[in-house]
Amino acid sequence: MHPDCWTGPILHPILQFNKYVLTGYRPISSVQDCVRSLFYLHNELGNIYSHGIPLLCFLVLLPLNIPWSQISVTWLGVVHFLACLSPQLGSVVYHLFMNHEGGEPVYHTLLKLDVCGICMINTLGALPIVYTTLLCYPFIRSVALLVYILLSSHAIYCAVTARSSVRRLRSFAWQALFRFSFFLLRWVGLGGGSPTSLRHFLMMDALAVLGGVINITRIPERFRPGLFDYWCNSHQIMHVLVVGSILYLHWGVLDDLLWINSYNCPSD
Ligand SMILES: [Zn+2]
Repeated sequence: MHPDCWTGPILHPILQFNKYVLTGYRPISSVQDCVRSLFYLHNELGNIYSHGIPLLCFLVLLPLNIPWSQISVTWLGVVHFLACLSPQLGSVVYHLFMNHEGGEPVYHTLLKLDVCGICMINTLGALPIVYTTLLCYPFIRSVALLVYILLSSHAIYCAVTARSSVRRLRSFAWQALFRFSFFLLRWVGLGGGSPTSLRHFLMMDALAVLGGVINITRIPERFRPGLFDYWCNSHQIMHVLVVGSILYLHWGVLDDLLWINSYNCPSD
């Protein structure tokens, strides 16, 4: 632990977004000191690295893993790549700079950035799913993509202005419902898509929901406040589950993009 690490009462109550994390808070810091906190132990270190390391890996490995030459709709691959990066990017910046000396206004701006990252993967991440499901219905496909983007913009506004994490989750719920209606279309055989991708997408949502529930219920630290201040608390568990969820999205979208290339619609 860094000698500056704050072990007494929290200087800024807002930094204690989890009341069961009792120690290891960084002092209020300049930008440089926030960056320096990457190199000593404090209670945000696990949150920063559990999204920072996957962010670097995705940045380098995802473009290599997408078979661009076999994809007929290139923009779907690009949108998917950006979707996969966005939640970690917002999260790393939020967790790294949340103790910035700018105080509450800076904190709330960073929190909005973090929430925006989640909104972006919900929005951009679903576009390949919508596109593939309606591959053989070009007009309905365009309308559905447009409606989804418009409704998502409203959800982003609601999520960013939400005052509690429960309210924030609620504004994501309708996006999940929209996605599920596409899963349903696939399941009953009306929608297109690789036979293997639906399973991946369901795993994606299951992990995301599990992460959200663990984060809200503050398990395990609520049972032993203080014991999980540095490692293995609910927020870190959620971060890891989110990364798992993104991997399932990636595998599902890869299957779908390759499927598009090999599938001929009945009317063609
Ligand atoms: Zn986080």
